[in-house]
Amino acid sequence: MISYIEARALVAEQVGKRRRKAAMRTKPVNDALGDVLAREIRSDRDYPPFDRSTRDGYAVHANEAAVGVKLRSIGEIKAGDAVSEPLAPGTCIQIMTGAAVPPGADAVVMIEFTERNGDEVTFHRASSPGQNLVPRGSEARMGDLALNSGLRLGYAELAVAAQVGAAEVCCFARPRVAILSTGDEVVPIIETPGPFQIRNSNSVSLASQVRLAGGEPVPLGNALDRVDDLSAKVEQGLREDILVLSGGVSMGKYDLVESVLKSLGAEFFFDAVAVRPGKPAVFGRRRDTFVFGLPGNPVSTMVTFQLFVTLAIDILGGAQPRPLPFLEASLAEPMHEKGGLTHFLPAHFDSREGSPQVRPLRWQGSGDIATLTQANCFVVVPADRQDMAAGERVSVLPRPDVI
Ligand code: AMP
Ligand code: MG
Repeated sequence: MISYIEARALVAEQVGKRRRKAAMRTKPVNDALGDVLAREIRSDRDYPPFDRSTRDGYAVHANEAAVGVKLRSIGEIKAGDAVSEPLAPGTCIQIMTGAAVPPGADAVVMIEFTERNGDEVTFHRASSPGQNLVPRGSEARMGDLALNSGLRLGYAELAVAAQVGAAEVCCFARPRVAILSTGDEVVPIIETPGPFQIRNSNSVSLASQVRLAGGEPVPLGNALDRVDDLSAKVEQGLREDILVLSGGVSMGKYDLVESVLKSLGAEFFFDAVAVRPGKPAVFGRRRDTFVFGLPGNPVSTMVTFQLFVTLAIDILGGAQPRPLPFLEASLAEPMHEKGGLTHFLPAHFDSREGSPQVRPLRWQGSGDIATLTQANCFVVVPADRQDMAAGERVSVLPRPDVI
C-alpha cells in the first residue's frame, strides 16, 4: 500500500499532466480573495510616488542637522501636500508621516529628538542621509511586475492590486468540484431521518472544504447503493473538473463506487493509502475529470480531502500547489497506535508563547465529528512509529479553517 506522500505525488503528477483550463474571469478586487491571478498586474507608477516621510518630525539636509545645531523652520508639510520648492540651506521644515519630503532635503529627524522655540528648532540627535524616508520608486518602479499570474490572492496581494489601480482583476475560473455522497442510509439535511438513517453531513463539510481550497462546489446530493442510481449521478459528476464521492469505497457488498466508476471508463491511480483514518481512498480519472472516492466516515472524508483533493484543486486552479502546512509541537501525552499506517488524529494545538504543545483528543473513531469541533489540528503518528513518548517532537497538520 502506498504512503500518503506517494499518493500526493501521484495526484500532483496526474493532475499536472492535464492542460490548465484557460477559462478566466474579471471581477472586482474586493471579490477576489482566494482566487488565482490569470493576468499579471504591473505598477502604474513609482512606489512610493514621492520621497515619503515615515515619521513626524523635520525634513533637513542631513549634513546640517548635527547635535546641538539650530535651524529655522520655514513651514509645514502634511500628507497630501504638494512640494516643489527646494529646501533652502540652513533651514528645516516640519513634516508629517506620509508627507512628501521636499527636493533637497535628504532626511527626516523625529520630532522626539528636537526642541522648538518659535521658528527655531534645536536638534538633539545627528541625522544621516536617507533617515526616516522611503525614496520614490524604492518599492516598485512604474511598469514593474507587481503581481505575477498564478499567484493566489490573499489580503496583501489584493492590497497591492488596489494600490496600483487594479480595481478589477483577471482570475482563473475556480475548478468545479462535483460532490456526491453515497449510502442508502443517508438523507438530505432538511429531512427528518428515520430511526436508522443519518443526515448528509458530508455534503456540507465537503462543500466547505471545496470552497476553502479555492474550488467551486457543485452539489449532486446523494446516490443510493444501487448501480443504476449511482451510475446516473456519477455520470453527472463526470462533467465537472473533479468529482468527489463519499462512502462506498470499502470492501462491503454495497460498496459500489469503484466498480461503477470502472464501468463508466475510469482508470485508477491508487485505491488505498496507508493512512488512518481514510485508508480506502481512491483516486482516478475519466477523460478530463479527476475522481476521488473518499471513505464515508465523516472524519475520514475530511482528512483525505485535505491530504489529496486540495492539491488537485490548487493545480487545476492554476496555482502553485500548497504544501501541507505542517507545524511542530511537543506531544502532551504518550500515544500508542498501530504501525504501518500514518495516523492523523484529532488533537488540540496550543502555541504556548513559542513552545507549542499538542494534545491528542479522546475520540470514538472516524465517525466522531463532535470531537473534531474541539480539535484544531491532527497530530501525525508516522507509519514506522507505534509508541510516541510524552514530550516528543511531533508533526501537526492544522485544520486550515481554524488555525
Ligand atoms: P461507507 O464509507 O459508505 O462505508 O460509510 C462509512 C460510515 O460513514 C457509515 O457509518 C456511514 O453511515 C457514514 N456516512 C456515509 N456517508 C455519509 C454522509 N454523507 N454523511 C454522514 N455520514 C456518512
Ligand atoms: Mg456506505
